[in-house]
Amino acid sequence: MNAVRTLLILCFTIAIGAISVSSAQTARRPRTAGARVNKSPDVYLITIDTLRADHVHCYGDSNIQTPALDALAADGIRFANAFTPSPITNTSHTTILTGLLPSHHGVNDFAVPLAPTHVTWAELLKDKGYHTAAFIGAVILDSKSLAPGLGRGFDFYDNFPEHSQTKSRWGRVERRGMDVVQHAETWLTAHPAGSHFVWVHLYDPHDPYEPPPPFSTQYKDRLYDGEIAYADSALGNFISYLKKRGWYDNALLIVVGDHGEGLGEHREETHGIFLYDSTTHVPLIVKLPAAANRGKVVEPQVRTTDILPSVVDLVHADASAKFDGESLKPYFAGSDAPARTAFGETDYPLRFGWAPLRSVRADAQKFIDAPRPEFYDLRTDPKELKNTYQPDSAAVQRFRSLLADAGLAKPAETANLPDPKDKIEEQNLLHTAMLATDDNRDADARAALEKVLTLDPKSPTALRQVGELEFKAGDYAKAADHLKRAREIRPEDATAALYEGEAREKIGDLAGARDALEASLKLTPGQLPARLLLGDVYLRLKDPKAAQDQFEAAQLLDSNSVEAQLGAAKAQIAQSQFKEAVAQLEPLSKSQPANKEVFQLLAQAYKGLGQTAEAEAAEKKASTIQER
Ligand SMILES: [Zn+2]
Repeated sequence: MNAVRTLLILCFTIAIGAISVSSAQTARRPRTAGARVNKSPDVYLITIDTLRADHVHCYGDSNIQTPALDALAADGIRFANAFTPSPITNTSHTTILTGLLPSHHGVNDFAVPLAPTHVTWAELLKDKGYHTAAFIGAVILDSKSLAPGLGRGFDFYDNFPEHSQTKSRWGRVERRGMDVVQHAETWLTAHPAGSHFVWVHLYDPHDPYEPPPPFSTQYKDRLYDGEIAYADSALGNFISYLKKRGWYDNALLIVVGDHGEGLGEHREETHGIFLYDSTTHVPLIVKLPAAANRGKVVEPQVRTTDILPSVVDLVHADASAKFDGESLKPYFAGSDAPARTAFGETDYPLRFGWAPLRSVRADAQKFIDAPRPEFYDLRTDPKELKNTYQPDSAAVQRFRSLLADAGLAKPAETANLPDPKDKIEEQNLLHTAMLATDDNRDADARAALEKVLTLDPKSPTALRQVGELEFKAGDYAKAADHLKRAREIRPEDATAALYEGEAREKIGDLAGARDALEASLKLTPGQLPARLLLGDVYLRLKDPKAAQDQFEAAQLLDSNSVEAQLGAAKAQIAQSQFKEAVAQLEPLSKSQPANKEVFQLLAQAYKGLGQTAEAEAAEKKASTIQER
């Protein structure tokens, strides 16, 4: 039997949990048909993934054309110094959509569900009578799989197809920005009445960098910028659509990056591990209804946690909701509101067995709480190259207590983990391997992973992924060996244990397969393929009682599983429980009339009961069925 091997964009198995959809708590307000003047303003949130502030034209990069963002900044308020607390997509977006810091909303990695206790932007506006819809550009924000809970409050959430036909990444793991805005425009055209909250997510600048023409040629030596320019054109398309419909002027429109991109700074190629400005400084542009305060540039430091409180403030939504940020309104009018303290958090290193990081950015200084702590004076060292950390300095003490007061302490058990600064080359290679695996370029993935293992022979992530690639290539003995080593380092990895069990079964190491599968099921009991395989292994180990336990557990997971029912019958026959076997098999002989094995087993069971005629009839029936 084959376990389902879905190598999603992330090389790990994701448990897909049930998503609770809460209904609107308050009734819709009655509204006058066609009244568009006194209604609450439409709210549009456009998040552009992996968008470094300093790679946008209106943020000072003269080498790139971003006319849509520039025009929006001219119509709106541009925040020159906005920071995300998180450098990874799901965590950062959850912050934008809840106004909470990662430690407080709890979504510190992909596939972590957003707890129902945290109210979302969509819920708050739905309660105000808004029609709500979300259009995402990457499967990592799919609310049915990798972003459970993020769909709460949306009338429509444009998830990805559950079973994609295509091998290409387009439509399967990623949508082009132009497709995303098309979906949004189609939905808006079909739902013109009332007030709208629409979230549009443009994933394009996220790697791999593959902009379509003409951006692929125009930016051929810097494809990241090409993706940004392309995403800007999709934004431009969306804004043109709103203008054409007459919905732009009175709308509240917010564009923000979810995080930046390392681009090799601090040796980080992409994002997620570090908390430097390269990945935390994001563009933030707010266009107010009627273009109030147009063209203003706000210099004081603000945070992406401030976005939702501002929206609640502007549209007069439920004021009792609690946020980590505060409304940006004081900056709109031109008074000199003070800069705000920006926190940073990343637990992403934990996935690789490295220490999580926390940071505080205030008064043009930054403290990074790492195993080897860092402190930067951003006035003289904006690129964060000269670590001036002194454990006794007053600034360090103050920043440490700010972190503690905000409840952003790191888990105590992470104290002895390696500093990500010592691991970033490994991370770059693991990321290369992940992208290669995702594109079925197994040789490239293998080469990158082997380089990781020369840097760290005990990298559990690399060991496991090499094992998976060997399994895929049919080299089961080597696969079993690598997976075993991965498990020795990370015994809690249920998927590695499952793969090791499958590999050992393939090479006939039944006792080894049994032990690995038992370990995997102890960690994650609900794995049907593992149950079925373990049942088979127990049958072959001549332990039908244990086999039966597994097949019965499999039937509890899926009462329609033919494999589980046949397995149970085999285990019963092996224990001379012929009556029970017949009871199991008779219904199957009706529902599975073309399944040869059903009748072969039925013949054995009748024979065991001494019912020769029935046994012969079943045998005869079996002989008429072609082997499948
Ligand atoms: Zn992102």
